[in-house]
Amino acid sequence: MKKNMKFGVLVADKKAEVHEHEIPKIEDDEVLVHNKSCNICTHDYQQWLGLRHQQPYPMAWGHEQSGIVADIGKKVKNFKVGDQVVDNIYRPCLECANCRKGLNMHLCLNKPTEKFTIDKYGYYGYYGCGQYEVINKKHVVKVEKNIPFEEAGFTEPLATVLQGIERLSLQPGEHVLVIGAGTMGLLNAQVARYFGADIIISELIEKKIQTAQKLGFNKIINPSKDDFKQKVKTLTNNQGPSAIIFAVGATTAYQQGFDIAPRNAKFLIFAANFPAPQWSIDPNLVHYKFWQVIGTYGASLKNWQDAVELLSYKKINVTPLIEKRFVLEDIQKAFEMAATPGTYRTAVIIPD
Ligand SMILES: [Zn+2]
Ligand SMILES: [Zn+2]
Repeated sequence: MKKNMKFGVLVADKKAEVHEHEIPKIEDDEVLVHNKSCNICTHDYQQWLGLRHQQPYPMAWGHEQSGIVADIGKKVKNFKVGDQVVDNIYRPCLECANCRKGLNMHLCLNKPTEKFTIDKYGYYGYYGCGQYEVINKKHVVKVEKNIPFEEAGFTEPLATVLQGIERLSLQPGEHVLVIGAGTMGLLNAQVARYFGADIIISELIEKKIQTAQKLGFNKIINPSKDDFKQKVKTLTNNQGPSAIIFAVGATTAYQQGFDIAPRNAKFLIFAANFPAPQWSIDPNLVHYKFWQVIGTYGASLKNWQDAVELLSYKKINVTPLIEKRFVLEDIQKAFEMAATPGTYRTAVIIPD
């Protein structure tokens, strides 16, 4: 096997490079994964844009990866060389009370308070966009059937969507309005549909409307052209949506949702944006209209496993959500495209 590995690094605002260092040795309970692709998540391109200064440089970025097991430590029993896997980057301890209750992994009681630690090579991050990545066996997740690596890279975002839908306690037949048909909006819409909901999508960008249609959604509102309020009413048999999923973090989107929400509505605050969008919500309305404002972020271990299975068995279609594939050397171009509004996931293909 080779001695050195290449990996993608965010070195400064608007600057992504390919660096190289030795392939780290694995301990007995670790797995060496030969990554094959890594998708650029919002977290990554917002850092590249300079919007997330809480994430330090140099960042060996990447968590929406997938690869093949290249080597296993002596104590690793559940994985073998050649397995296709993804990395559970939430790093739960799996031993504390909250982990044992199967709660959201961000609620792990032993989660390090210092979120980013520097490694012996001087980098932060998980090396998801690296040729090799060392992962503790606890955090390796096997992909059920071999699927394209870029598609397996949707495990983490899909798991977060499953967590949100779970928190929404969605019942079959509910009218769900999804605001925003970006990658996360269309994952939310597909999962809510899978759970039996009737989906209405609100989106301004024509290209995204077409992608939503390609995925079989036909109740679509373009607020720049349609009478938003009226169309929501018509499409929900005058009932209004019982749940609204905010898949864009924008003040106007929130306001639009609150303006049309009926009694007993649930709001799922899925998106984050920096700087934080502002909204004003009348507490009396929350009181008299029985509204529920539900935040969501991250996922449970079960969501993670379910995500891998839904992708493996093609229950959720992510093929139209891959905008373009770039080779590792073109990492800067990949970030330029990922950060362009209206773009779905861009994938970085990692060379052998
Ligand atoms: Zn992500
Ligand atoms: Zn824990």
